[in-house]
Amino acid sequence: MCGIVGYVGPQDARDVVLEGLRRLEYRGYDSAGIAVLADGELTTAKKAGKLANLEKVLAERPLPAATTAIGHTRWATHGGPTDRNAHPHVSADGRVAVVHNGIIENFAVLRAECERAGIEFTSETDTEVAGHLLAAAYAEAPEGEGRLAEAMRAVCRRLEGAFTLVATHAAEPGTLVAARRSSPLVVGIGETADGTPEYFLGSDVAAFIGHTRNALELGQDQVVEIDRTRGVTVTDFSGRSVEPTAYTVDWDAAAAEKGGYDWFMLKEIAEQPQAIADTLLGRLGEHGNLVLDEVRLSDQELRDIDKIFVVSCGTSYHAGLIAKYAIEHWTRIPVEVEVASEFRYRDPVLDRSTLVIVISQSGETMDTLMALRHAKEQKARVLAICNANGSTIPRESDAVLYTHAGPEIAVASTKAFLSQIVACYLVGLFLAQVRGMKFEDEIAAIVDDLRKLPDAVARVLESMDEVRALGRSLADAGTVLFLGRHVGFPVALEGALKLKELAYIHAEGFAAGELKHGPIAVIDQGTPVVVIVPSPRSRESVHGKVVSNIQEVRARGARTIVIAEDGDQDVVPYADHLIRVPRTPTLLAPVVTTVPLQVLACEIADTRGYDVDQPRNLAKS
Ligand code: GLU
Repeated sequence: MCGIVGYVGPQDARDVVLEGLRRLEYRGYDSAGIAVLADGELTTAKKAGKLANLEKVLAERPLPAATTAIGHTRWATHGGPTDRNAHPHVSADGRVAVVHNGIIENFAVLRAECERAGIEFTSETDTEVAGHLLAAAYAEAPEGEGRLAEAMRAVCRRLEGAFTLVATHAAEPGTLVAARRSSPLVVGIGETADGTPEYFLGSDVAAFIGHTRNALELGQDQVVEIDRTRGVTVTDFSGRSVEPTAYTVDWDAAAAEKGGYDWFMLKEIAEQPQAIADTLLGRLGEHGNLVLDEVRLSDQELRDIDKIFVVSCGTSYHAGLIAKYAIEHWTRIPVEVEVASEFRYRDPVLDRSTLVIVISQSGETMDTLMALRHAKEQKARVLAICNANGSTIPRESDAVLYTHAGPEIAVASTKAFLSQIVACYLVGLFLAQVRGMKFEDEIAAIVDDLRKLPDAVARVLESMDEVRALGRSLADAGTVLFLGRHVGFPVALEGALKLKELAYIHAEGFAAGELKHGPIAVIDQGTPVVVIVPSPRSRESVHGKVVSNIQEVRARGARTIVIAEDGDQDVVPYADHLIRVPRTPTLLAPVVTTVPLQVLACEIADTRGYDVDQPRNLAKS
């Protein structure tokens, strides 16, 4: 994530870009920065922290007025959230300024190459290398129109990973060049009251919605040049010209802050395919192996582990429960899962060969931090799974695996949760790889399955209309039960938690097999019971037993809401409502089966008239 804005036109570019950054701040607030091009010189201002910090700097030291400017609000992935790492990054010759969204996966190799050529780097980011490479490519490119775009194409052909780049060159007033691969970028085309054309670039249309509703959508691997006199030119990375898709933005400026969604939560649910893809990005090696270079524990330390605890709170605890199934299955190491507030008070048995995995979206969850400190005092190794770069929990841990879900603004976690599950899979597979518990081709097969998850989640999201209608019909429910077995059990717990925290409806998740040992007494005529059905290709007995459980609750009057994979016909006779999800390998299924439960809870809460993003009594840590 991150917010990118660019402007070329007759207005004061400083104001246009700052306003755009304000609208995009939800995309990242580790730092903010702006570069303006005036009188053949680039001038930048940047500051760690929220945009307000940059605004203070600008009030004390204003930038020169300009008609060309770029800006960035950062969500740090490489290098802490500091002033030095803030974008824009300027090339060593001071002639190119660049902002970037995403991760340049091969930056280390490119950086080493620049350093050999005598360039001194001033930040720890992956981004800076793009500025230096652009300056060099510009020097090589033929003089004349389109020179900066030619340089951008040359650089993009060398970059791996995901990126949106926007650049300006001191010798090219009135021109901005941008590129996009697997990261968002839109162009806005407007005109001022006197009919003068003006051009905008943004991570999303929120950046310029106050100025124009005419936008161009760019495809993958495209470079766009916007120029005050020549207008917009789009090519692919090899220079072939491309016709961009024009569209009219049909929502207003206020809604744009949530990207057009009624709630941040809805937006974050929709971002889940991207969040999963970003969490996998750069971690799956070319040969199906896993590359987790932020795990700063030696292979020997990882081989010595004889026990794992996963410690976390709330929704992250459910990610931990899912992790247990996968990690034990893949590594044969015993895994215990515990809520952080219990763990630290009960004197768990820990030593040097224990690995404690702590999971926290913010990296600041106090109970989890205390559990981490307790584990370290007992000499255990600690690995953090966390979404906020540079926060306390990863800082104090021996190793960290960041989820790249982007900022999660809604209090109820959605995309961070799915990314945490994916990160847990990566840890489990990594351990299996290092300890030689799986053949390379077995790991490669699971890696292949992981790569399919973003598409599977996208497919679930496409078919949510019926789930929303079902949600509206459940708005008056008194109690809702959720049942699951195997990895479906933690999904049931998560479904119940979402409903409690958003809709304030009493909800409970149970292991389906526990039902007859007590909870089935709660079921009354019409009680909604949501059942997460495992794949028929999972252990035959597990699937069959869950189908029996559906019949048991239905026989006692329950209204059954069944989540089952495509093609599972066994459930059809017993489902009052059937929600289909794509076929997914058993251990990975929670990533898809959770999604309808999020949508359901959100719709019920909305129908009941509650603030979905900020539920009562709760706050995001
Ligand atoms: N990877 C870049 C950085 O860490 C860009 C992050 C972003 O998208 O904000 O600075």
